[in-house]
Amino acid sequence: MKCAHCGGRLEILRVCRSVKMRCSRCSRTYPIGEVIHLLDEQTLDILERLNVIIYD
Ligand SMILES: [Zn+2]
Repeated sequence: MKCAHCGGRLEILRVCRSVKMRCSRCSRTYPIGEVIHLLDEQTLDILERLNVIIYD
């Protein structure tokens, strides 16, 4: 998935037991709840395997 700001690639960033998405280009972070509808299947798969809390 891509950053809404610059189009860079978003990476999963673990914060304790929750996650955020961080842009590899502009370092902007997005709360997962804000981009959950944009996540692709591959990202969801990774999140599932990490067993993280997606929803607050
Ligand atoms: Zn960006």
